[in-house]
Amino acid sequence: MPETSVPELGEWEYDMPPSRENAATKARRYLTEGRVTIRSVEGMRVWAVVRGDGALWTVTVDGLDRRCTCPATGYCAHILAVGLVTAPYQPEEGG
Ligand SMILES: [Zn+2]
Repeated sequence: MPETSVPELGEWEYDMPPSRENAATKARRYLTEGRVTIRSVEGMRVWAVVRGDGALWTVTVDGLDRRCTCPATGYCAHILAVGLVTAPYQPEEGG
């Protein structure tokens, strides 16, 4: 009786193409691959450049306002990557 070699579910997950990773996972990968460059920090304003899939995207953070030049809507992996290396917005105390 021959043994069958059906891959375990875990092996299929391991072979998932990169496009299946979510934005948060992608953001962490951008950091570990050195794709995030902070160009300037001025008070609550941060200007960063993230090298995404073959292109450079500019991410600007101004307090709670975060924008990226890429076509994605909402918080894309570039914004999340910059968010991982910058402190979250804190309203000034006592003001
Ligand atoms: Zn983006």
